[in-house]
This record gives sequence, structure tokens and C-alpha cells, in this order.
Amino acid sequence: MNYTEKEYWIKAEKSFEILHACSGCKRKQSFVNTGCFRVNANGNKLDVWLIYQCQKCRHTLNVPIFERISPSRIDKELYEKFLENNAELAEQYGRSFSFFKSKKFEVDQNSASIALYDENGKADESDACTDFERIVVHNDSGLKLKNEKLVAMVLKISRSAAKKLIDENKISLSTDSTAVTIEFI
Ligand SMILES: [Zn+2]
Repeated sequence: MNYTEKEYWIKAEKSFEILHACSGCKRKQSFVNTGCFRVNANGNKLDVWLIYQCQKCRHTLNVPIFERISPSRIDKELYEKFLENNAELAEQYGRSFSFFKSKKFEVDQNSASIALYDENGKADESDACTDFERIVVHNDSGLKLKNEKLVAMVLKISRSAAKKLIDENKISLSTDSTAVTIEFI
């Protein structure tokens, strides 16, 4: 049997938005990445935050990256990037679902913009890929995706068509911490 496999990588296309209580609006609001860091020396310890901002009133929210850390424990190159508000690094944190999860911040999943990339790191622009028996979708961001949404995105079909495939056991899905494997039965 000619066993064909395809691999994809899921990546966030922009920083996640965070849902958090805003002290300015006095209600839960959506906060966006400012692309800036704040570094604060406190005695011989450092705090480093990624700064988010309320979309409505611009109140800021500090998302801790390092708290009360000894400066010797921060990589020098990384530290320089914090000081210069390195945009690429701020985006890297902003697009990491597991980063926010580990800090117990609530990511606005509805605002998440994600895309499929191939093994060369290029955006997937192929046609529907039903020629494969097995498709592995790597999801390093840790973002939780509904099975229907994932299948629809990978196979480039509607959500209802994806649901039908799943419900009728035409495909099987197995999920581990970093990937989802879709197999055609
Ligand atoms: Zn606000």
C-alpha cells in the first residue's frame, strides 16, 4: 500500500489578545500586545514584563516574563532585546499560547488568527489534500483547537463537512501535547 503522509505546522499569525479585568473600564476587556517590555530592577533582582494594553481605554497590563530573577540568570542577548523593545521578541511571546497559559492569562481564542505552514515554513496554499492517508498537524503553540475547525482548515472544507467526516468515522483524530494526527479510515 502506498502510504502517504503530510505534515503541517500551526502558527499564530499575530499576537494573541488577552481577556482581563481592566481597572480603567471597570470590566473585563480585550488587551493587545504593545510590542514593548518593561524591565525593573528591584534590589539585586529583576522583573521583566511584556506590556499589553486595553483596546478601549489604553490602560496597560503587565504580563510577567521573569519575576524576581537574579540578573545572572538572564541570557545577556535576551536581556538586551528586552531593553531595546525588540519587536520580533515581543511578537514571539505574544504568539505563544503556552506562555500565556503558564502565566494563567486568558487568551481570547476568538481573536486568534492561525494559519498552516508546511515543512519549509511557508504558508500552506495547496488545494484540498485528501490524497493523504495520514496528516500530522504540529501545534507547538499549545492552542486548543476544536477538531472540526482543525479538520476544516487542513482539508479546506466547510466546518459542517468536517463534522460529518468525524461523525461518520471517515477519519480518526488522535491528539497529544504537540500534534494532532488525522487518519483517513
Ligand atoms: Zn480599559
